[in-house]
Amino acid sequence: MNDLLLGNPVFKMAAEQFDRTADFLKLSEDVRERCKWPKRMISVSLPIRLDDGTTKVFSGYRVQHHLSRGPVKGGLRYDEHVDLGEVAALAMWMNWKCALMGLPFGGGKGGVTCNPRKMSAREVEAVTRRFASEMTPFIGPEVDVMAPDMGTNEQTMAWITDVYAQHKGYLVPGVVTGKPVNLQGSLGRTAATGHGVAFCASLAMHKIGIQQGSVVVQGFGNVGSYAAQTLERFGSKVIAVSDISGAIYNPEGIGIRELIDYVKETGGVAGFPGSEAYDPEEMLSLECDVLVPAAMQQVITKQNAAQLKCRILAEGANGPTTPEADTIIEKRGDIFLVPDILCNAGGVTVSYFEWVQNLQRMQWSEQEVLSKLETMLKAAFDRVCSYGQKNDISNRVAALAIGIREVADVKAQRGLFP
Ligand code: NAD
Repeated sequence: MNDLLLGNPVFKMAAEQFDRTADFLKLSEDVRERCKWPKRMISVSLPIRLDDGTTKVFSGYRVQHHLSRGPVKGGLRYDEHVDLGEVAALAMWMNWKCALMGLPFGGGKGGVTCNPRKMSAREVEAVTRRFASEMTPFIGPEVDVMAPDMGTNEQTMAWITDVYAQHKGYLVPGVVTGKPVNLQGSLGRTAATGHGVAFCASLAMHKIGIQQGSVVVQGFGNVGSYAAQTLERFGSKVIAVSDISGAIYNPEGIGIRELIDYVKETGGVAGFPGSEAYDPEEMLSLECDVLVPAAMQQVITKQNAAQLKCRILAEGANGPTTPEADTIIEKRGDIFLVPDILCNAGGVTVSYFEWVQNLQRMQWSEQEVLSKLETMLKAAFDRVCSYGQKNDISNRVAALAIGIREVADVKAQRGLFP
């Protein structure tokens, strides 16, 4: 099974990053083996009656990478390319992210191979409810806590909460995070990942002496839209944005509030008044201070890494930069990298706050949530930068090394059974 995982390009990439960092940490072979491979992989078939009366069987996955530091935590992704290898890679990254942030979780991830944009709301609900039902024996506040990711949102989490409550006979709000606020979701959770990306990008700008920069954002969903909105609020100018509909460019700055309203109406950024259409691939190489990939993995590759003209690469998406591109960026030495497991950790950190509030039956104010989030992100950002400088390694390897070291130490302390 482990060899099968390595056949998947996204898992292979996560494994390569792990191996490179394990080399730096000089981890022994047996410790590597324990840290690298997933603890549990669950694969389910989801037969759904479509609106046209036919039945279609969708594939669903949940990977729990390790449970050594607590329940697993991680998003649920709906995308037509989702497979077990991709989900396992994302679960592995979640491990190091939770450990880097000091959260009491292991990494998990889930996915259903489907395209929600081509399905009716009823069909998406049916897939979600069936998936939640199949997963019920394996999830719960003490075991595995899901959250939204690409293609899912707070409504998805509300349906999962409902299915789990029906199985249990009572409401268990801590089974998922990223729920609607009136279903005991946390204030600030929906904006948290994008807010964290903008906050980390601002820390990086401050570090290299930029006051208010120009910004390019790939992806205008949950992460990209809130990152753009917050960076604009912090005084930066968003000059280009792309999503699945295309890319738009305006060197004078794009009004993000108006763009959000426009996307709600039309479904995509293409055609936004006052902007010009741009090639989505070439948009990544626009001259700017901050480039935020916030769509999907493996978009910065050996083909385009040398052409990037940003000063800061703030990774909102998970795994947007391939290891080959990392090598090119490191050699160039002119781009400040805020790696994904730090840059987008705002989401899981506020998910942790939501889980704590649910367990305590409390609700914190939005101000309390954001202030706690910024304190934790600033501490992690400073730790990554100083560890990287001290050891003369990239911010990526530094962030991964802190997370992997933490997991390896806990496994060593707990020992092996039997
Ligand atoms: P989303 O579904 O809300 O939005 C995805 C966006 O990407 C959409 O605007 C879509 O049109 C766009 N997109 C898709 N394909 C594209 C392409 N080829 N070119 C340009 N744009 C494209 O998803 P999201 O929740 O914003 O997640 C985006 C990324 O951030 C993913 O990598 C996800 O794993 C990561 N992430 C999300 C969270 C979270 O809390 N939602 C947390 C951490 C990391």
